[in-house]
Amino acid sequence: MPSPEEASTSTTPPETFKELGLIDPLLEALDKINFTKPTEIQQEALPHALEGRDIIGVAETGSGKTAAFALPILQKLWDEPKGLFACILAPTRELAYQIAQQFESLGSAMGVRSLVLVGGMDRMQQAVGLAKRPHIIVATPGRLNDHLQNTKGFSLRSLKFLVMDEADRLLDMDFGPEIDQILKVIPKERTTYLFSATMTTKVAKLQRASLINPIRVEVSSKYQTVSTLLQYYLLVPLVHKDVHLIYLANHLASNSIMIFTRTVHDAQRLSIMLRSLGFPAVPLHGQLSQSQRLGALGKFKSGDRKLLVATDVASRGLDLPSVDIVINFDIPTHSKDYIHRVGRTARAGRSGKSITMVTQYDVELIQRIEKVIDKKMELWPTDKEEVMLLKERVDEAARLAINELKEEAKAAGGKKRRREDGFGRDERDRDDDVVEAGVPRKRHSKKGR
Ligand code: AMP
Repeated sequence: MPSPEEASTSTTPPETFKELGLIDPLLEALDKINFTKPTEIQQEALPHALEGRDIIGVAETGSGKTAAFALPILQKLWDEPKGLFACILAPTRELAYQIAQQFESLGSAMGVRSLVLVGGMDRMQQAVGLAKRPHIIVATPGRLNDHLQNTKGFSLRSLKFLVMDEADRLLDMDFGPEIDQILKVIPKERTTYLFSATMTTKVAKLQRASLINPIRVEVSSKYQTVSTLLQYYLLVPLVHKDVHLIYLANHLASNSIMIFTRTVHDAQRLSIMLRSLGFPAVPLHGQLSQSQRLGALGKFKSGDRKLLVATDVASRGLDLPSVDIVINFDIPTHSKDYIHRVGRTARAGRSGKSITMVTQYDVELIQRIEKVIDKKMELWPTDKEEVMLLKERVDEAARLAINELKEEAKAAGGKKRRREDGFGRDERDRDDDVVEAGVPRKRHSKKGR
């Protein structure tokens, strides 16, 4: 595949949605939801998209990239109203719901129907939804494949648009078989958009998406964090991580905070521990049911719970407008994951802070991240004496949390116990929507991820 053409920036892009050539029903919907003027990625991508080009869009989270791909699809749909017109793939379930909501609101004056196909939700209900031929499908790859293989009468033969959101993640090897399978059964003649905050330039990886003469639009240089984000680190001996977390939670009590952990086990453990110490915390990870996950997100979004303790299933793409602070309880091993995590705060021009805990084993990792973001983080000031005053209470709460987890595992029987003793403790969490006949299928190994 030849390298994608870079969009020229020499001409001034249109300042309004009307100037961009959008049709009245879209202008009406944009007005209703108060999108008064296009964001930069929308200004850059829309002219090419409306010309019918394939697009590689690189834009940081919060830049308005969802509307950048949704608007041209809806405009084409208006000319050619058809069921199963576009399919949007997303790596996580919550992101899929968020994208579908945006299609619904932008398409409100057009009567657009969309359907979300993700794991953890009832297959039959989804199959009934498919029979009604929605215009837009938003799916995680595993569940879409499941329907392509098992739902009678459903195919994507009429598809006109394929979008991969968080495309660099979807084109990773561990989504490989599902993506390949989907690409095999959809029309070659289609428009393809790849959007992501971080985007690979590896030709082999991009080739898999079978783009035709794509144009690359980029509104911020690769791997950047926004300037309104203040980034700190906190040096902590490994054994004192819990007590430092509580110290931070105490000091930052009035803020809404996302705490990222590497494992499901820690997300669950810390949220129990925080709650027992009186902090309004709720966990979000891949081992909760989908309704629990949506419930957790809802409580956090509404401000009912101020602390969300999450694994990386919540690190990408989620639009949580009011996150004040991101705490990395575990430093992410990949710089890209760091950028996605801290991108949950300081969105759309707002300010925000991130605090990354760095233990004696993490020094190399933080240096690598600083190199990639091209910024030095500042040390978060702590009062060691004050921290240690909390130690006894925190140790007790941590013990209680472990006991509660053990009790829960015992009550849930073997399946859960296996998770607590094995997977949950050691493995990075991922969205486990690849299910065959109720049995999670083994994925390619994800060395180092
Ligand atoms: P996204 O990058 O797609 O996750 O969008 C980030 C946030 O910006 C979402 O809350 C969108 O609703 C909002 N947004 C997108 N486009 C615009 C616009 N043109 N004007 C105002 N807000 C927007």
